[in-house]
Amino acid sequence: MIARPWKHSASLVALLILGTGTPVAAAYLQRLANGSLAVRKPTSDSTQLTNLPRGNPKMLQAREGQLRITVLYDNYSHDPRMQTGWGFAALIEYRDRTILFDTGADAPTLLANMRALAIDPRRIEAVALSHAHGDHTGGLAGLLEAGARPAVHLLPSFPSSFIRQIQATVTVTEVTLGQQIGEGVFTTGEVSGTIPEQALIVDTELGLVLVTGCAHPGVLEMIERASALRGKKVNLVLGGFHLRGKSTAELQAIVAAFRRLGVEKVAPCHCTGDPAIQMFRDEYLDNFVPVGVGRIVVVGSGEESGRLQLRS
Ligand SMILES: [Zn+2]
Ligand SMILES: [Zn+2]
Repeated sequence: MIARPWKHSASLVALLILGTGTPVAAAYLQRLANGSLAVRKPTSDSTQLTNLPRGNPKMLQAREGQLRITVLYDNYSHDPRMQTGWGFAALIEYRDRTILFDTGADAPTLLANMRALAIDPRRIEAVALSHAHGDHTGGLAGLLEAGARPAVHLLPSFPSSFIRQIQATVTVTEVTLGQQIGEGVFTTGEVSGTIPEQALIVDTELGLVLVTGCAHPGVLEMIERASALRGKKVNLVLGGFHLRGKSTAELQAIVAAFRRLGVEKVAPCHCTGDPAIQMFRDEYLDNFVPVGVGRIVVVGSGEESGRLQLRS
């Protein structure tokens, strides 16, 4: 079953064709931001998550109201017990929901890393795939073989052969603009580009957290889309920023744009590229969050409030 709750509006089509840097798109995003443009909320059917027993609740259960992101697949190392590989996957636990964002390039590595942290694959209620590249989708088939039965949220542009294959086992939803994936967790929807992509937005009481896979359409575009959809700035961006091969001047402009957009903390990994990671580290200092496989980032209110608190 493929859920298609609504069709793209003419404005969205304009945004997808023109990109976010044009006056038309800017006006569209502005209307999204101030609420004058209605984005149809997904039906309860399309956001319902499979109700599965959750194993090891004490291991990785985030405390009430906290967001917990565990990097399960990355080419950078953090926890020496875990294996690195080219790709990305992150477990997002928020308000009693367990969502896997991307699945890395292969199931043996993903499952071994989950075992190292005692994460039962059957706990995963939803999987969101950022884009159709193998280093983000390669672990899914083996995850299903391991007994996981998540609702899978992917892009309308995914190859139909891929969709057919997983539809045999699980429910597949083609995501729509700003669709809710779980309580407080939303997709940017398909951001257009040579390689279209979605990112996940977690709307916490301390601000927006954006989790990106590769950010092929441009990490700034993904941030702007998230901000426009939720009507507030993005406080933390974690994931691949896809900035390899950019010149120093280009990287400086991108880091400056992060500041201009009000991004408070950054956690670049996967395909960001070492020079870009170093530049973010130099610019953000204590607000640079080093990330690699095994890294657990907790965004929680704690005693202090009003600012994004990270613990790990
Ligand atoms: Zn990619
Ligand atoms: Zn990638």
